Amino acid sequence: MKKYLTLDDVDVSGARVLVRSDLNVPLDEDGAITDDFRIKSALPALERLVAERAKVTVCSHLGRPRGPNPHYSMKVVAERLAELTGYEVTMGRHADSDIKVLENTRFDEGETSNDPILAARFADGMDLFVQDAFGSVHRAHASTVGVASLVKSVAGPLLDRELSAFRRFTDDPLSPYTMVLGGAKVSDKLGLIENLLPKVDQILIGGGMCFTFLKARGESVGASVIQEDMLESAAGLLEGEYGDKIMLPLDVVASTSFTKSGANRIVDVHSLSEHEIGLDIGPSTYNLFADTIRRSKTIFWNGPMGVFEWESYRKGTERVASAMAASDGYTGVGGGDSAAAVRMLGYEDQIDHLSTGGGAGLELLEGRALPGVEVLERWARESE
Ligand code: AMP
Repeated sequence: MKKYLTLDDVDVSGARVLVRSDLNVPLDEDGAITDDFRIKSALPALERLVAERAKVTVCSHLGRPRGPNPHYSMKVVAERLAELTGYEVTMGRHADSDIKVLENTRFDEGETSNDPILAARFADGMDLFVQDAFGSVHRAHASTVGVASLVKSVAGPLLDRELSAFRRFTDDPLSPYTMVLGGAKVSDKLGLIENLLPKVDQILIGGGMCFTFLKARGESVGASVIQEDMLESAAGLLEGEYGDKIMLPLDVVASTSFTKSGANRIVDVHSLSEHEIGLDIGPSTYNLFADTIRRSKTIFWNGPMGVFEWESYRKGTERVASAMAASDGYTGVGGGDSAAAVRMLGYEDQIDHLSTGGGAGLELLEGRALPGVEVLERWARESE
């Protein structure tokens, strides 16, 4: 059941509307956009508002600048928006164009501290706020929570679609329910694993984070990335009530150098030598993971299984992606790297829900309330 309002509940004709989209696209060293998936995902909201004759302003963060930094200017996003839509798109809130783009919300330090003065600046002159940035609603920032407390706010179509899709994972998910987690850092995901364990049937762990768990189990992990300060908590989870639900790699692809083309070998997780670094899951592991995914009815995946940026260490991630695509279960993929891998392999139509968010989706799966959605729910209650 939706507890928030959407664009179907409001008349936007002639209204001054501020849209918070997630236009946080990856940039190369020269500042060019390397993947415009998020801009394309934001278009339905913007096109609908322009078609319904709203006066549209859009804002987003881009990268993680601390204060103004020309490398992270929203100009490149505005240019791409113009190319994709054919609209007149300009920077700044005072222009008379189809879509006005505000400068990077993180150029002002008040964004992340949810400063009321910045929130009031965002709200100034607006009749309606449309929250469409699924990737940002788990953060209580000025452009997600602050502004939405000041102006009537509704969920945009992308946010609505994401929240509806995630309900399949949180409201009576079909069992077996499998979570697949990878990526570099354990610290980001330890709390998540702890909260998810009671809700799922198994958690498959690959990526850099598996080595902290393997070491906690007593394996020698060579020179692989581990987080010493997380060993105790990882051991606690493995030995705890739900420890049997955690599936770790059986074998890995390892090299003595952290480079693109160093010599590597497939090695059992009990047999890594002192100088070896595990850089991908091995074939016994990806076959086991793929098989588990295929036999599950609900599967969510976040985080690459190896250093997939390098071809030699991409196979684990590719095999997980293809098993997700082949599964008859309800499948979801979140996190920039995993979603990019799915799209790179051309599987996007075979995944039930390819999310535009990472952290926000994981928090939903844990059962946490998202501050940027809670504030929308307040407006819905007030309008009853
Ligand atoms: P995260 O930002 O935590 O989702 O981690 C994504 C990064 O994890 C990617 O850039 C991968 O290259 C990296 N990664 C995956 N597996 C490993 C590994 N075995 N060792 C080091 N880094 C890894």
